[in-house]
Amino acid sequence: MNYYRDTWVEINLDNIAYNVKETVKLLPSKEKLFAVVKANAYGHGACAVAEAALGAGAHGLAVAFIDEALSLRKSAIAAPVLVLGASRPSDAGVAAEHHISLTVYQLEWLKQAQAYLSPEQTVKVHVKCDTGMGRLGVKTQEELKELVAFIDQSPQFIFEGLFTHFATADELDTAYFEDQLFKFTAMVESLEERPPYVHCANSAVSLRFKKAHFNAVRLGIAMYGLSPSDEIKPLLPFPLKPAFSLHTKIVHVKRMNKGEKVSYGATYEAQGDEWVATLPIGYADGWIRKLQGQEVLAAGCRVPIIGRICMDQCMIRLPYELPAGTTVTLIGRQCNEEITMDDIADRLATINYEVPCLITSRVPRVYKSKGEVLHIDNPLVR
Ligand SMILES: *Cc1c(COP(=O)(O)O)cnc(C)c1O
Repeated sequence: MNYYRDTWVEINLDNIAYNVKETVKLLPSKEKLFAVVKANAYGHGACAVAEAALGAGAHGLAVAFIDEALSLRKSAIAAPVLVLGASRPSDAGVAAEHHISLTVYQLEWLKQAQAYLSPEQTVKVHVKCDTGMGRLGVKTQEELKELVAFIDQSPQFIFEGLFTHFATADELDTAYFEDQLFKFTAMVESLEERPPYVHCANSAVSLRFKKAHFNAVRLGIAMYGLSPSDEIKPLLPFPLKPAFSLHTKIVHVKRMNKGEKVSYGATYEAQGDEWVATLPIGYADGWIRKLQGQEVLAAGCRVPIIGRICMDQCMIRLPYELPAGTTVTLIGRQCNEEITMDDIADRLATINYEVPCLITSRVPRVYKSKGEVLHIDNPLVR
């Protein structure tokens, strides 16, 4: 596969593997790691990340919905896959057929789903508890008991897991986390028999609170080498290695005279004689208009984006004349300078999670290991 515009995301699969391996080292041997690869692996590319994570010691994968699970199966990934979000009762058969584990939290759902399963079909289910996230899950031990009783008497459902999700595990104040953990522990202890997987740890919990691992963790953001929050960055047990970088190449360079204008609205005016370069990346690539003024790296220097960002292009001011074809790094490292995912998140007043998800599939993902390109994913010409 190839791509024909010099704008690309580089995914360092060795760094994904490193982050997974270092996390696995923190787990007792019987504890399992589920690599969270929802949202196309936070924009990194689900299949490639899944393979790297499994190769580095992940036991299974977690996604948000059935389509994402099917996409992994289509790439011949046979590892356990758990759907963390809601599914339709009418899709229980699809899950059964493809060995996809589903999240359940309503008795009515189970009753309806049963009607869509043939007598020989079985679906593995993880019961979700809502201990304070207020998103999905059973809220009481009574509800939990009812659900588990129904699952146990039904030959079509296999009680595979019990889990919950924390709302504040990435904050320094742990009071709310402790409260959620207490509620979840009580839910677990109310069961007569534990299912094979009991899990509640996202990245923050996996790396901070061993006591809250139970027997499986769900590693998302940290696998990508990004900290769950700025606050807990100093508390992380090993330095995470980011996997995602974004690059382009200058397609045009010109001298602009004092007073000449740049881009839509003619809002930028050259203050003196300036070298201005055009980059083939714009808001349709997820490099959104709010990033006007953001710095990028050219020839190892930080230079600003000037004028409005267009759909497919934007302009930067150069420190001196550079040739067309010069590589510009928008997220990542050049020489001693680095623009991190957190820098972009700060600029956009959001969290690092959102930034790689923003970069659209129009930007090809180039997968590298040991400095070599392993493969390229460009859905446009696939
Ligand atoms: C996304 C998600 C995770 C992963 O969270 P990170 O903070 O990225 O580690 C874990 N569990 C659930 C239920 C999720 O939705």
